[in-house]
Formats: sequence, structure tokens, C-alpha cells
Amino acid sequence: MKRMIFISLTAALFSVVFPIVLGILTPAERPKEEPSPVEITPEISVVYTSPEAQGTEDGEVEVVVFIDGKAQKTDMHSYLVGVLAAEMPASFELEALKAQAVAARTFAVYKMKNGGSERYQNADVCTDITCCQAYCDENEMREKWGAEFESMLGRIESAVKGTDGDCSVYEGEPIFAAFHSSSCGKTETCAAVWGGEIPYLISVDSPENGDSVPNYTSRVSVSYDEFLKTVKERYPEAESGAEWVRDTVNDESGRLKSAVLCGVEVSGTEIRGMFSLRSAAMEISCDEYGVNFVTTGYGHGVGMSQYGANTLAERGFVYSDIIAWYYPGTELMSIKDLT
Ligand SMILES: [Zn+2]
Repeated sequence: MKRMIFISLTAALFSVVFPIVLGILTPAERPKEEPSPVEITPEISVVYTSPEAQGTEDGEVEVVVFIDGKAQKTDMHSYLVGVLAAEMPASFELEALKAQAVAARTFAVYKMKNGGSERYQNADVCTDITCCQAYCDENEMREKWGAEFESMLGRIESAVKGTDGDCSVYEGEPIFAAFHSSSCGKTETCAAVWGGEIPYLISVDSPENGDSVPNYTSRVSVSYDEFLKTVKERYPEAESGAEWVRDTVNDESGRLKSAVLCGVEVSGTEIRGMFSLRSAAMEISCDEYGVNFVTTGYGHGVGMSQYGANTLAERGFVYSDIIAWYYPGTELMSIKDLT
């Protein structure tokens, strides 16, 4: 019997959003079924655009988004409002929302410059979180916020408008703006999760903790039978007679680098995927019933931590400081100079 005690945030998705873009998904981050490219109708309709887009730099940039089975044309401002509504709690500090707006805008520009959505071939971006970024349309926002619709939408509109056109660049190119929900004190390197070095995706301190993050630590317990079965699914050579768990090694960010499970060495990222854990920052223990994982934080840990961004904003950081904190060595550049 597998007992999972963790509560899913709506933001559950971040760990699978970005890796696919680079085509460097590790098994732990890989969705069960690989999305295959889908041919879409060439007909392009026009969706509602935010009145706030008028006169902004973002409003001048056309984006084709695959929404509701169709490629739909909108502007960058309106698209980002939908992304922020889906990707970060609208009650977060305004400067954190603004940092998220920069990350989401940069992500979209990165896609536009690198062939668009892989899943839907004539869209710049799609709303499939295994390919691009999450997105809420107006009806979904109304459902999500109820009576607070106007005030929450107002916050998001201000975050997008307050960062109008700002993209994060490294050596003049839009960055791969990975982000995640919360970290365990430090963010993770890109290399540890996806295997490639990216100079601005290195491990940095992240200030959030259990006081500010819901379900900051969570526990998953599995019986020994289930544990062995899960390990054997990937590693048939795993042995029931071997010690259940040994040689756990953490990396410098505090996340599990590797452990030997039933005689087989497995990476922390992969263990996270095998047992559907919220994070690779984990303590593993064994008792009379089975194996227990206690994890800290949520998501792959690479790039900006959303709860960390919110904590920095509470401490007086403005969005450009937050972006510079989580993506060291980057600077802001206008979307006009990039598209
Ligand atoms: Zn896509």
C-alpha cells in the first residue's frame, strides 16, 4: 500500500514546464506520456485583449497562443495576464508578481525565438503545461477569484504593466527562465536536474521557510513491497535482499544527489519522480512498515523560487532585484529590442 500525504498546489506543474523546452527532461521530470506534435488548423482567430494593453510595449507584440483547440492571436500583455493568473497566487506581493511577469514574458520570447510551441506547430506558445506555461482565461479567473475577481485581476494587470516589455537577458539573449514553487534554502543548479550547465541557473540562497510556505515539508510513506516494486520497474536488477536504502549523498544545495536503493544507485531527481515526491530535498528513513520520505519545498528547484520571490519582496526587494538574485549575471532588456 502506498500512502501519500501531500497536498497538491495548483502550482504543481512547474517541475515539468521548462525541461521539455530544452529537450533535456530527466526521467523524473518526464510526464507519463510524451506529448507528440499536433497539427493544428491554420485558421487564426482573435481572442479578447485586455484594455490595459493599449499603448504598452507588450501590447504591440503579437503572440499566437494555442487555446481551446485553436491557434488564437492576442498581444503579449493579455497573454501574460492569463499566465500570471495561472502560475502565481494573485495575493502575492506586487514586486513578486512583477518578477513572475518578467519570467513569464522572457519564457514566451525565448519560445518565439526558438521555434515556438513544440506541441502545436503554428503557435508561439500553448497552454499545455508539459510544453509551455499554464494559462487562465477570463472565465477561469472569475471562477478562481469569485467576488475578488476585480481586485485580483487589477493586481495582475499592474504587475504586467509595471514591467512593460522587460525581459531578462544573458549576453543579449532571452534567458531560459526556469522557476519553481519553493526551495529548501538554496536553489538547484540546472546541471543537477537537467544535466547541462547554464551560467545563470546556478544555486543561490532562497529565503522562504515553513512560516511562509504551505506544506513546506511533506511526507510520503511506502511499504517495503511497494518500494521494491517501484525500484524494480526502472531497475530490474534491484534486489530484495539488499539493504533498502544506503549511501545517501546530498549536493551543495541540500538536495539528494544519489542514494543506493535495493543495491542500485539512483539519482535524487529520479527518486523524486519514482515516488512522486514534491522535491528532491529529502530525508529518507526506514521503519517497521516501510520507507519514509520527508521532503522540503516544491518543484525542481531551478531558477526563481516563487515563494522566495515573495519573501524577498516582503523584505523590500523590487522585481529587478529579485530577477537579478535568482538569475545571476542577467540584465533587463526591452522586448522591442528582442522581437
Ligand atoms: Zn507549447
